[in-house]
Amino acid sequence: MLSDNLKEIDAKDATIVCASKYVGAESIRKMYNLGIKNMGENRVQAFLGKYDELKDLDIIWHFIGHLQTNKVKDVINKIEYLHSLDSIKLANEIEKYSMKKIKCFIEINSGEESKSGIDYSEALNFYNELKKYSKIEVIGFMTMAPNTTDEKIIKGVFMRLKDFKDSIDPNLKLSMGMSNDYKIALECGATHIRLGSILWKGEY
Ligand SMILES: *Cc1c(COP(=O)(O)O)cnc(C)c1O
Repeated sequence: MLSDNLKEIDAKDATIVCASKYVGAESIRKMYNLGIKNMGENRVQAFLGKYDELKDLDIIWHFIGHLQTNKVKDVINKIEYLHSLDSIKLANEIEKYSMKKIKCFIEINSGEESKSGIDYSEALNFYNELKKYSKIEVIGFMTMAPNTTDEKIIKGVFMRLKDFKDSIDPNLKLSMGMSNDYKIALECGATHIRLGSILWKGEY
């Protein structure tokens, strides 16, 4: 049961962003009724359908996947958080189409296997550049750990991001940790954990 799945999770003080890509609107409604209001989608078409079906709820929508620049106008006024800001092109589109300030995490690429996110070498410049944008509020950094069971590697990835954001501003937030590695992420200072499969066990 979803309520049992939820009970298993000790998120400490972090916000649980429920990755709802695995399920349809009715399952999301059940999760919402259990008290989870932050939902994260990573595909534009699926998100738009669920958004319409769930308009009667005050869900806080996060977009957590790669966002193509040509899709920004369809999505941006329906979300409050974007976890995957990683290019000036994307920032320009947000500036053009958003009617309010969007809370954004800059996505950092933590491994060669991942194509999304920007490299550490460019991240500080990118962060500073974004200060000019009136529709973008950078609230922190996001990353995904490589798909490995080696906890030392995962911890290294998360600690690197924590140290990096502390060097810029300790008050910034950290979106990191998924079903398999959220406990490590919490130890490393995650403020937002993005949980999917662990929350939806038995539901799909
Ligand atoms: C699916 C997804 C998650 C959640 O993954 P699980 O391993 O199912 O918890 C987190 N972040 C992003 C960007 C995702 O696409």
